Amino acid sequence: MDRPAIRPKLTILLASPRGFCAGVDRAIQIVERAIQKFGAPVYVRHEIVHNRHVVERLRALGAVFVEELDEVPDDRPVIFSAHGVPKSVPAQAKARNMIYLDATCPLVSKVHVETQRHYDAGREIVLIGHAGHPEVVGTLGQLPQGAVTLIESAADAQAYTPKNPAKVAFATQTTLSVDDTAEIVAILRARFPAIATPHKEDICYATTNRQEAVKAVGARCDVLLVLGSANSSNSVRLAEVGRNAGSAAYLIDDAEGLNLDWLQGARVVGVTAGASAPEVLVQGVLARLADSFELTVQEAQAEPETVTFKLPRALVG
Ligand code: SF4
Repeated sequence: MDRPAIRPKLTILLASPRGFCAGVDRAIQIVERAIQKFGAPVYVRHEIVHNRHVVERLRALGAVFVEELDEVPDDRPVIFSAHGVPKSVPAQAKARNMIYLDATCPLVSKVHVETQRHYDAGREIVLIGHAGHPEVVGTLGQLPQGAVTLIESAADAQAYTPKNPAKVAFATQTTLSVDDTAEIVAILRARFPAIATPHKEDICYATTNRQEAVKAVGARCDVLLVLGSANSSNSVRLAEVGRNAGSAAYLIDDAEGLNLDWLQGARVVGVTAGASAPEVLVQGVLARLADSFELTVQEAQAEPETVTFKLPRALVG
């Protein structure tokens, strides 16, 4: 498309940090290296991370995405997604002598270990999270059915009635809204002063940092664009945080999802990306905007994230 000679001015505030976190980076590398090592097809149980573009790229390289282990032949490797899986899944893979690789983010595994520790100590466990999200299904599936009670809201926290209020613990999904979770935790602490808490909060560093960055940008922009897929919990939260900070916020998969009508009258547009959304999608949106506007792009300054996670030994060297 030819650019019009005179384009309206638009300031872009790029949130920082944004996009890929260490857990997503590791999970994607696990799929890429497994395809190199074992050849295609390599099966992946559930979307490796919740991003349509990531999944499509890996599918083109030879990954086959399935929802259940039953769909995987015994003689092909299978990878478990970054969200984690119930204990029954690796047990089933072992029983079938399958080669399996676990791409569960180490920060999700940390929550699994924590809930097991509480269970072993005889505590009743509350998991704060969203019903049906694969991470929640995986965490609930670390312990016998009924050992963990899922609560999703402040009302659930008010209604929760443990058998022994003196022996309760809580854990959380890693990608929740920091503010909403703080409210739920405050209710639990008020009701159960002895409640055992995570050593370090379960909402991960990447979720926390991206939400903080969006608060800063959201307060200064008219419209916030969040690159991410609709099934990505942390991306959906970023749009909510942007709205709470005072801007209109839209979650889009890519530049094609952008509706320029949203920007009518806007002078400042914030842009961020969820932890599973590649930076190339942000650049695609900037390129699309540059066709219609004269852009001034300002990148927020933030401490660089230095977290990295090791790959499984089977794929190294
Ligand atoms: Fe791990 Fe957090 Fe990234 Fe999820 S968002 S993969 S918990 S670092």
